Amino acid sequence: MDGVHSGFDDDRARSARRAYEWQSTSGARAGGSSGFGGYQSFEDIFGDIFGGAAGAEPQQRPRRGADMESELEIGLLDAMRGTSTQVAVDRPEICDPCDGSGADLSASTPCSECDGSGSVRVAQGPVTFNRSCLKCGGLGRTGTTPCRACGGAGRVASRERLSVKIPPGVDNGSRVRVAGKGGAGVGGGTAGDLFIVIRVRPHGLIERSGDNLYMDLPITVGEAIRGGAVEVPTVDGMTVRVQIPEQSQSGKRLRVKGRGAPQLRGKDRGDLYLRLVVHVPHSDSPAALDASRVLDDAYGASPRAGLRL
Ligand SMILES: [Zn+2]
Ligand SMILES: [Zn+2]
Repeated sequence: MDGVHSGFDDDRARSARRAYEWQSTSGARAGGSSGFGGYQSFEDIFGDIFGGAAGAEPQQRPRRGADMESELEIGLLDAMRGTSTQVAVDRPEICDPCDGSGADLSASTPCSECDGSGSVRVAQGPVTFNRSCLKCGGLGRTGTTPCRACGGAGRVASRERLSVKIPPGVDNGSRVRVAGKGGAGVGGGTAGDLFIVIRVRPHGLIERSGDNLYMDLPITVGEAIRGGAVEVPTVDGMTVRVQIPEQSQSGKRLRVKGRGAPQLRGKDRGDLYLRLVVHVPHSDSPAALDASRVLDDAYGASPRAGLRL
């Protein structure tokens, strides 16, 4: 099924977490007044995601973008039936005004060390090679101030609305993969993936454990005594006919095979467990009271005869 991530990958989880931290950090910085000093630590944190200090390496190898995570809360019935929904994600994108360098180049002068080229020629014996200029960090300019659009980060969060298909059977913590919607790749690399982490809201009537579902089934006093077939709604929006055995006590459990949660990977379903709850009628009619006395006479012994401590 499209969009379902199988298995768990530690590295991916770590990088996704980093990407998430990036989002929250950048959010916190947006309104802040942190100076250029924050720029270095930003590089330290995100250098491995975005391929090193921005601007310092003019020729970057293609690198895949970071995987990202986003939480989505859905109802239990949607989790059982599958659903399509919209999620808003903040994806890091290269800042346009500074082209990812994080520096405001308009407030600068050409670097005297490298004459503005960003790199210097170094001779080592008979060999000469280019290396990034240490004075300007490869920017080619000195006296730079942080870019006002991104605060020096070189990246801005760009909000995007995505339509996401949630497959039937997802549970708390399920990860639904949206290919190519993670962080942008660097140097022509492909984008990372977005993982939607599912949170399922508790349901008032149904509980889930693994692939099995649990629900109370109210029955009448007569149904408890005589038994009979009753209609029971199921999470797929259908009903199932369930046979109540005669002489059913309150609390008795019935198993309805194959009416539990659909398996996320596989075609089977779990089972539905019903707990019978005998419902006493809200009636003080003389007929009901008479019937209850007749019923009481039908007990051979007190139902509490065995209740000795
Ligand atoms: Zn320089
Ligand atoms: Zn910028």
